[in-house]
Amino acid sequence: MPVLAALTQGIHNSAYFEHSFLADQLGAEFVECHDLRVVDGRIAMRTTRGYKTIDVISRRVDDDFLDPLNFQLRCHGVVERIRSLAVEQGDRGYGAAVVKDGLIVAASPSRVVTRGDPTAHADTEVVRDAAGVLGTSDLSCCILYSTSRACPVCEAAAYWGNIDSMIYGTGLSNAGAPQFRRC
Ligand SMILES: [Zn+2]
Repeated sequence: MPVLAALTQGIHNSAYFEHSFLADQLGAEFVECHDLRVVDGRIAMRTTRGYKTIDVISRRVDDDFLDPLNFQLRCHGVVERIRSLAVEQGDRGYGAAVVKDGLIVAASPSRVVTRGDPTAHADTEVVRDAAGVLGTSDLSCCILYSTSRACPVCEAAAYWGNIDSMIYGTGLSNAGAPQFRRC
């Protein structure tokens, strides 16, 4: 049986009762952002018996109460997992993800070694992948998360993709919007 979880902002949210009712009706676990983390490459929720893997997360997408920043900052392991994936595949230890409306649009490891492409940095790759997924070169309203600060090539990719904000590093520092100068 897949494990279903319903995501809530918490007891201070005006729709908390409705969310808890929905979770009850769905037979879903009721979780907040800080209950979640990535364990062994999968999203898991904290329980009294340790972390338990989740298969499906039900959440509202028509409201900014679960803003991408909050969701991601409380789910640190995602980008780290992509970094591990890069290493497992024999590439350099870099990973990046693009998030829109709280959902991960694309997550990409470095492909410099595996593709033999000196520009296939994780950040550039994920900008390209996200554009492919969304079917547009305009990634405005998207946030780029990366294991390390973007190099000039990656920052330019993010800039030309209209990425809203870039967050990088193990501490997930906010680098703000891409600063590449238009040419
Ligand atoms: Zn780069």
